[in-house]
Amino acid sequence: MKDENSLNRRRFLGLTGKSIGAAAMFPLLNTKDLFGGIKSEKQLGIALVGLGGYAMGQLAPALKETEHCKLTALVTGTPSKAERYGKEYDIPESHIYNYENFDEIVDNPDVDIVYVVLPNSMHAEYTIRAANAGKHVICEKPMAVSVEESEQMIAACKANNVTLQIGYRLHFDPYNQAIVNHTKSGKNGLPKYVNAEFGFTIGNPNQWRLKKAMAGGGAMMDVGIYCIQAARYATQEEPVSVTAQEFKTDAVKFAEVDETITWQMEFPSGAVANCNTTYNFRTERLQVSYERNNFQAILSPAYIYGGLKGTLGGEPLDFGNPNQQALQMDAMAVAINNGTVTSASGEEGLQDMKIIEAIYKSIAMNSARVEL
Ligand code: NDP
Repeated sequence: MKDENSLNRRRFLGLTGKSIGAAAMFPLLNTKDLFGGIKSEKQLGIALVGLGGYAMGQLAPALKETEHCKLTALVTGTPSKAERYGKEYDIPESHIYNYENFDEIVDNPDVDIVYVVLPNSMHAEYTIRAANAGKHVICEKPMAVSVEESEQMIAACKANNVTLQIGYRLHFDPYNQAIVNHTKSGKNGLPKYVNAEFGFTIGNPNQWRLKKAMAGGGAMMDVGIYCIQAARYATQEEPVSVTAQEFKTDAVKFAEVDETITWQMEFPSGAVANCNTTYNFRTERLQVSYERNNFQAILSPAYIYGGLKGTLGGEPLDFGNPNQQALQMDAMAVAINNGTVTSASGEEGLQDMKIIEAIYKSIAMNSARVEL
């Protein structure tokens, strides 16, 4: 019989026979680290709220692979989706809700976690309603459209004695975590410089991502947040200031939200992050330069769901192609079963919202340096 730990580890790392050598060189993560060594007792039921691209393209399929949680309910405003996905995922009618009767989920013992995958401006309302229904919450990034809303969400979850976690899947991705662990090891001293960029060319000009009332902001809220995250986890520090610059090439398409923003963050150790986010071209990388031995960590692509590539001190990283969403939801379910939360907590999301507000403030002040 194969050793169960080794099987779990291979599954976590998405390892193939070919990649195990690289993983052995970088023994950075395993299920024991991720799940605190405690195996979860109960497979928790998850209700997905908002059956759009991410929920049905990534999360629902990932829930077929999870060990510690499973899909037990759907919440949608579109009757045809209720019918289609109800059948596809074997969800009984009694477990399918719409936005009006959503609060009845309080009476559903098969739902332990409500996972909010709605447009950004709806995150706060549905997180608070879920918390009031006594359900644990996972909310997609950005956790809300303001610091104020984020604080209300955290307070509602505390008041109802439920947990709040944010869909930061890269906290469970071995490539990004390899950099985190390298920083923590101190082997090459402190990180001195981070370059983080994430952007893509956005299509349909009528989508909610381009409407301020629905999205809260543009590229910054949507994908710039990954760069903020990366700079924070790569340095293991919190920024003390931001300075930001905004650029717009299409004033019509981006009338309501930001198109391209570059910004810099200073950290207490003196480390600097130089970041870019955009809806106008494809860019995706994370580079971290350390204090000693000319050591660099580089990931590109760095933030998408699969196919991440990179090097650590020139050595290729190869953890295969793990299912980030399955790892994330399993880790979050195990944390809940253990009465805790993962590093992707509500407070972690709030910190990003504070930085985003500071970035927008810097732009509004003609790229002034804003202290955090
Ligand atoms: P979509 O537009 O594809 O889906 C959003 C869904 O929300 C819709 O399909 C709809 O579902 C529901 N909805 C309810 N009211 C509205 C409304 N007024 N306008 C539009 N949709 C509405 O968005 P995504 O799935 O791409 O994004 C959803 C959230 O997930 C966002 O917060 C985004 O930032 C986050 N996300 C996170 C990713 C990650 O990697 N962590 C990746 C992609 C997105 P229904 O018809 O069922 O009611």
